[in-house]
Amino acid sequence: MADNRLKAVHQSDLEGLLKSLGIYNSVRDNKEMCLFCRDIITEKTISAVFPFENSVCFCCGNPACCNALIDLESEEDDCG
Ligand SMILES: [Zn+2]
Repeated sequence: MADNRLKAVHQSDLEGLLKSLGIYNSVRDNKEMCLFCRDIITEKTISAVFPFENSVCFCCGNPACCNALIDLESEEDDCG
């Protein structure tokens, strides 16, 4: 089983998660983007944080992006 499973983000521990990943400041500084639509990610718009190609990527709350993320995950799992 791959260890790059999607991390569900809960607002209550989002800050702790971001800090543990070392990306809290860059999110606060609006330096991170949604992997799919390239919108700036903020603490309010993060719907998922996940590892991709050796870096930490984000998905915003846009339904199209969430679907793209699901497609990405299922491709990697190769068990659809
Ligand atoms: Zn997006």
